[in-house]
Amino acid sequence: MIFIEFAEFEIEKVIMARADHDADIVEFITDLAKTEEIEAGIFTAMGALKNARLGYYDQEVHEYQELKIDEHCEIASCVGNISILEGEPFVHSHAVLSYEDGETVAGHLNAGRVFASEIHVQVVDGPKVERKHDNVTDLSLWKFG
Ligand code: ZN
Repeated sequence: MIFIEFAEFEIEKVIMARADHDADIVEFITDLAKTEEIEAGIFTAMGALKNARLGYYDQEVHEYQELKIDEHCEIASCVGNISILEGEPFVHSHAVLSYEDGETVAGHLNAGRVFASEIHVQVVDGPKVERKHDNVTDLSLWKFG
């Protein structure tokens, strides 16, 4: 039997924000979610970072490996969502970053020092989206209330 975890939402509003120079992009989006009381949303971001920390989840040992990016890069693409983890808004973000020569690196975005960035958040209205520990993956995955 296949059990599909899903729920339907309406777009409540769209927030466009400019992240501060030198802010951490993940912290910025998290602070925005807390300030605007966003419990569920999806976002995209673009711009440039001074450095970044990407994650890669090792599916065998159930741990994140960290990839340190200490070069200036473009945010070629950044997508993510906001849901609730342990009662607080939690940002889950992935990014494709590009270097001067156009080469790219990508992964789970843990952190990134902003040079300049534009963030677009679609706040959604619907069931509560909470992250709960999943025994199979050892990750905090969505449960819809
Ligand atoms: Zn991820």
